[in-house]
Amino acid sequence: MPEPVHLRPRRPCPICKKPSAQKFHPFCSQRCAQVDLGRWLGGTYAIPAVESDEPEEPQDDGAQDSGAS
Ligand SMILES: [Zn+2]
Repeated sequence: MPEPVHLRPRRPCPICKKPSAQKFHPFCSQRCAQVDLGRWLGGTYAIPAVESDEPEEPQDDGAQDSGAS
């Protein structure tokens, strides 16, 4: 029998506990990465507003119109 493939459990973002993104591993977004970086640099949580290229958590605008059948 073949060995089972061990899938790495996805760790949540250490900053906000959201599911981490591969791009910003182990964080969920660049902002959280900046937050962590800020800890090292300044030891402060005061982070300037970072404009992210990616939208956060797309909100469902309820525009799902699948049509009546
Ligand atoms: Zn995060």
